[in-house]
Amino acid sequence: MHRIPRHESKCRAYHGHRYAAEITAVAPELDALGRVVDFGVIKERVGGWIDENWDHTALLMRDDPDPAIAALAAANAALGRPVYWTALPPTAEVIVAELARIAQDLLADTGVTVVAVRLWETPNGSAEWRA
Ligand SMILES: [Zn+2]
Repeated sequence: MHRIPRHESKCRAYHGHRYAAEITAVAPELDALGRVVDFGVIKERVGGWIDENWDHTALLMRDDPDPAIAALAAANAALGRPVYWTALPPTAEVIVAELARIAQDLLADTGVTVVAVRLWETPNGSAEWRA
C-alpha cells in the first residue's frame, strides 16, 4: 500500500497495487553453465527481500503530513509488518530507484551488475530505472 501526498487526484488516498518487478542484470561472461546468474538467485535474494520488507505493508513518505500515519505505522509494526519509509513520495519512479539500489547490493557478490529495473504498478503503468 502507498499514497502520494499532495497528489492531484485519487492517489492521495491510501491504496494498494499488485506491483511486479523486472530486473535486468549483466555479467562480463557467462558462468560454466552458460548463465549470467541463476534466475533462482535473483528470485531468492531480491524477491525474498521484497517479501520481507514490502509485501503486506505500506510504503510511505517519511515526511507525509497525514496525521493518521503515525497510528497506521504503529499498527503495522505491532502486526509485524512495519512501514517502509521513503524519503520522497513513494511513486513508481521512486520505488524502482530504491529497488535498483537494493538489488545491486543484494547481488553484489554474484558478479552481476544490475543495469535496469522496471516496476509495474499496474498492468498498464510502469517506471524503469537504468544504470
Ligand atoms: Zn498508487
